[in-house]
Amino acid sequence: MTNSDLTHVIDQCRALIERRFTANEEAGAAAMLLSDGKVLVGTAPEAMNPAVEVCHETEPYCAAYRLDQKVVASICLHRDEHGEYLVLSPCGVCQERLAVHGPNVLAAVPGPDVAQWVPLKELMPHYWAAVFEDGSSEWAS
Ligand SMILES: [Zn+2]
Repeated sequence: MTNSDLTHVIDQCRALIERRFTANEEAGAAAMLLSDGKVLVGTAPEAMNPAVEVCHETEPYCAAYRLDQKVVASICLHRDEHGEYLVLSPCGVCQERLAVHGPNVLAAVPGPDVAQWVPLKELMPHYWAAVFEDGSSEWAS
């Protein structure tokens, strides 16, 4: 995986927002790079009851499973009312979902160049599964 691959992930995420939503409408989307090099994008609808809404990452996450591919990098972007793009670090639920793909999955967090990429193990230095030392998990310490 190269920096250009990661830039492509950011570009695909922004492209979905620009294609799907009207200009300057607040909107969000996510994109994930898979182990085969494919980039999947997704977004999530609003609901009458916000408690039932899902994260933007949900669509590419489920599609990666359908395609039997590992997720190697994930980003979630929010375009605000001024048209600025903000990187949303993965929420706790999304971190838990990404953990299935191992501690080295790259997650986008806000950075000087729009986004910076950090391994999941840096977001979750005390991940609960790391306590198991039976070798059944990549997270074992
Ligand atoms: Zn989430």
